[in-house]
Amino acid sequence: PSSSSAVLKQIDIPNDLEAFWMPFTANRAFKQRPRMISRAKDMHYYTPENRAVLDGTAGLWCTNAGHNRDSIVSAIQAQAAELDFAPNFQFGHPKAFAVASRIAALAPGDLDHVFFTNSGSEAIDTALKIAIAYNNVRGQAGRQRLIGRERGYHGVGFGGISVGGIVSNRKYFGSLLNGVDHMSHTYSREHQAFTKGEPDWGAHLADDLDRIVALHDASTIAAVVVEPMAGSTGVLPPPKGYLQRLRAICDKHGILLIFDEVISGFGRLGAAFAAERYGVIPDMITFAKGVTSGTVPMGGVLVRKGIYDAFMNGPDRMIELFHGYTYSAHPLACAAALATLDVYRDEGLFERAKTLEPIWADAIHSLKGLPNVLDIRTVGLVGAVDLASKPDAVGARGYDALERAFHDEGLMVRSTGDTLALTPPLVITEDQIGEVAEKMGRVIKAVA
Ligand code: PLP
Repeated sequence: PSSSSAVLKQIDIPNDLEAFWMPFTANRAFKQRPRMISRAKDMHYYTPENRAVLDGTAGLWCTNAGHNRDSIVSAIQAQAAELDFAPNFQFGHPKAFAVASRIAALAPGDLDHVFFTNSGSEAIDTALKIAIAYNNVRGQAGRQRLIGRERGYHGVGFGGISVGGIVSNRKYFGSLLNGVDHMSHTYSREHQAFTKGEPDWGAHLADDLDRIVALHDASTIAAVVVEPMAGSTGVLPPPKGYLQRLRAICDKHGILLIFDEVISGFGRLGAAFAAERYGVIPDMITFAKGVTSGTVPMGGVLVRKGIYDAFMNGPDRMIELFHGYTYSAHPLACAAALATLDVYRDEGLFERAKTLEPIWADAIHSLKGLPNVLDIRTVGLVGAVDLASKPDAVGARGYDALERAFHDEGLMVRSTGDTLALTPPLVITEDQIGEVAEKMGRVIKAVA
């Protein structure tokens, strides 16, 4: 037997946490003092010692329906027994079509077609490729340039980090990031501090797109991509009127507008999509996370009818778009998505998020005045607290807070630098909202 088959039989392989190179993690700090999670139900995680941790972040902004919901679990189990895998290249399985129809029905306007991926990063890269390919098929092949925004997060593919605007996600990755430009971000503490919902100040920042068009010329620009609400950078709701203005500028110049709704989709802002909340219809919407409530990886791109139709040309046995993933619309993901969409509908969870928004906003804004709190932002069931950085140690206070929240308070929060972000499952109760605020208050005092 080869040495690897001998290893397969070995039952005493050391599990010393070393082999797993953890993503977006301070590996050495984690491995010294792990934050381990072994089980979940509804609003809680449980550690291997069975300590409950209130989920203030819906995992990674994804378990919108709450954890381990019975109907979703059963659907995944049944699907695994019925159809494990079917190719979606030149073949198909019924649930893929059903999920696409359900998602298209939820989307506003003529966002009628869905291309499936397995993650948000793949969704973004897919949308960028469709934007460039669309301009090719409509005879505008010069439109290759992509425009993102400072502080934007669009996953970690080369396309996503190129249009993304978070410097640590870009600076090590070199020359493939060229051919893009970035609009300015929309945050100004001076003009917006402690706003609930969308700030009044900042719509004019959309005009930065006009500056970029003047620099490169519209004939070279394929698409603009923004998160309607910037999440990962630390929660920046769009200024009132900003997205409408961006839409108008894109229309003026024939530029496609892509909303990255990987976070804002599926109820986070009290509507199926932010596009609905803001009454702005983009040309494409990327989604992931909440579509299966995080249970099985799935992402995708919603595409307007005119874009899809432009590809449906030439001999009908020709593949129209040379793009796709082995696991696009995987049967387990489709089963999970259908069951998740049922939970959202049957429990009215998008409306619930809308109803809870003012209660949530009051609770999180009650932290104003605690030590080091520089700003608080809330929108939908999203909140962020900016803490002052320690001198010469940016991010240290945020990390300390994340650790203390988990170990001492039994609360999961996310930290981005010294900003703490909260995005609970949409099933959170009013009492649990109060609990989040109390735990956060104690954590903020502890890291003062
Ligand atoms: N786009 C946005 C707006 C996101 O917030 C994320 C993840 O947080 C992504 C894309 C990337 O998604 P994934 O991690 O599934 O690749």
